[in-house]
Amino acid sequence: ERIMAGEVSSNEEQFELSLRPQRLTQYIGQQQVKENLQIFIEAAKLRQESLDHVLLYGPPGLGKTTLAAVIANEMDVNVRMTSGPAIERPGDLAAILSSLEPGDVLFIDEIHRLPRAIEEVLYPAMEDFCLDIVVGKGPEARSIRLDLPPFTLVGATTRAGALSAPLRDRFGVLLRLEYYDTASLADIVTRSAQLFEVIIEEIAAQEMAKRSRGTPRIANRLLKRVRDYAQVLGNGMITEELAKQALELLQVDPRGLDHIDHKLVTNMIERFRGGPVGLDTLAASIGEERVTIEDVYEPYLMQIGFIQRTPRGRIVTPAAYEHFGYDYAQQT
Ligand code: ADP
Repeated sequence: ERIMAGEVSSNEEQFELSLRPQRLTQYIGQQQVKENLQIFIEAAKLRQESLDHVLLYGPPGLGKTTLAAVIANEMDVNVRMTSGPAIERPGDLAAILSSLEPGDVLFIDEIHRLPRAIEEVLYPAMEDFCLDIVVGKGPEARSIRLDLPPFTLVGATTRAGALSAPLRDRFGVLLRLEYYDTASLADIVTRSAQLFEVIIEEIAAQEMAKRSRGTPRIANRLLKRVRDYAQVLGNGMITEELAKQALELLQVDPRGLDHIDHKLVTNMIERFRGGPVGLDTLAASIGEERVTIEDVYEPYLMQIGFIQRTPRGRIVTPAAYEHFGYDYAQQT
């Protein structure tokens, strides 16, 4: 089973839903994002206005969808969830927009994947809360303007740079989600364990946090698996010993890296002398998609200082040589 991958299968959706924090105070970590949002939400409420449009960006699994729902809860409004690829025609978006209640939150995941024609429907909607619709065909065709209720668009994307400039400029609030530190992830594991009614030792939660790639989704997936081991091999309680044993069996290394991370870095070392190597060459050499490397694998490897981006391509750092058991001095 994929523990690291970004996508969420449908039977996993329910699992994730059950663990989602509902309120800002339950949303662990991301201190700066929360402080900013708190102020914007309070100000909008004082003015009795809808919240400004918010763009959330950062790697998958860091809590963008969760935060959109939290924002709606804090604003006491409903949230409608959709995604860029799910909206195929301008009419689909028009239908969603005209069904919103005043103040509602519309969440569009992977908003950078909205087709351009649909993006253009969004511009007047975001700016003036209206829709320009063309009715009729040929010489009969005319454009009519429909008023929409004020709403808040919360867009999510893995990279803010992937968004077109006109769309990006229409967001009043841009928030970047960061990888979580170990303490926050341990809190998330502990909180989720409580919801599952599983007892977990603090050191065990820490150990799992360290191997979660800074990502709450992965922390929760690990917990789910480790809980199985605890039930079958132990007495249901997650001790440090049991967590370590389970993580070993799951083949998650001490830094939380999986076999694709391994392949990526060792390939760079063995076939490209540690780089610099271009992204496309790298993607081809390990048979992964360029975007997957760019959005999922590379950001974390850069975060922990295992690879660096240079103008001439990606390079492997001495720390990574050491982690994977290669001799840096010998290579260079
Ligand atoms: P994204 O939309 O960025 O891919 P999600 O919002 O779907 O990520 O989050 C994945 C899972 O991680 C959710 O099920 C949620 O339970 C958990 N999660 C994310 N952020 C937090 C947080 N700040 N505190 C607690 N749990 C979180």
